[in-house]
Amino acid sequence: MKPKVVIAGGGAAGMAVALRLERLGVEPVIVEREERLGGKVRGWHKLFPTFTPAAEVLDPLVAQIGRRGIECRTGAAVEALSEHGVKLASGQTIEADAVVVATGFTLFDARRKEEYGYGIYDNVVTSADLERMMNEGAVRLADGSTPRRIALLHCVGSRDEKVCQRHCSKVCCITGVKQAIELKKMFPEADVFNFYMDIRMFGAGYEELYREAQQSYNIHFVRGRISEASPMINGRIQIKAEDTLTGRPLRMSIDMLVLLAGMRANDDNAALAASAGLALAPNGFMQSADPFLGAVRSPRRGIFYAGAVTAPKSLADTLAEASLTADAVMDYLNSVQR
Ligand code: SF4
Repeated sequence: MKPKVVIAGGGAAGMAVALRLERLGVEPVIVEREERLGGKVRGWHKLFPTFTPAAEVLDPLVAQIGRRGIECRTGAAVEALSEHGVKLASGQTIEADAVVVATGFTLFDARRKEEYGYGIYDNVVTSADLERMMNEGAVRLADGSTPRRIALLHCVGSRDEKVCQRHCSKVCCITGVKQAIELKKMFPEADVFNFYMDIRMFGAGYEELYREAQQSYNIHFVRGRISEASPMINGRIQIKAEDTLTGRPLRMSIDMLVLLAGMRANDDNAALAASAGLALAPNGFMQSADPFLGAVRSPRRGIFYAGAVTAPKSLADTLAEASLTADAVMDYLNSVQR
């Protein structure tokens, strides 16, 4: 009998862990809330910093899951879990020898930052909306025209005490640089501005892309937070900000405002944690057993983590971490079988 491991979450992290475990002789079962595998990456157009189409990474993972015959329960949400399995919202239980929590994150709802008018004014979109528009080949203003001046605002719903999201979402600076370049490629005549508090370029190739954005694409980076956006009579958007490098207030009319919405913890993390005696970090993400030697382990033996359920992560980091999770699960299974 092969040991069985339930993986809660069928995004990139969950799929990568399942594939690795299956190769190591385990029977993985993926439980995914949505009707399809793929998670948030499914809605993404291209990946930073290489502009690789997201589908080129995601589709092979989904195809391998099918080829290897890995069991997937889609349209099924995990309501409670323990080291012995999971309970679904339908009331059904799936018993297992270990459980991996790979339920990911939630995108910050930009409507909570009312001052930017998301969901109220035309042409105020989030970074996720922009990816969808790029996927559909339809980056246009609401009246069908092309934007001539575009602003991207960093840290929307991150590093913000007012919305109780103090953490840095880690990937939105580089997403802003990537999207600014994509917009400039689409609309070479447009002026593109990135408004930021700090630029955090921690990954391989990120700093180079940031420089390229300035030197090759003439994208403007303004250190300052936009305090307010308001609609103008001519259909444009007026933004107010302060350039914190020069100390000067700034008023600008733009055609499109892109809000780089942050990653926040899932609302149901608390219930999942309570069901299994797990701990949450102050920002609501799942707390690992140890930040150095146990990043993919929970404080409870037999329950493991993968991907952005513990903290904001890039897709590259998520996929790399999946192997660590699978190794930790194997160590555990071997130790209890002995
Ligand atoms: S990665 Fe950049 S944009 Fe995202 S929260 Fe951190 S500092 Fe702000």
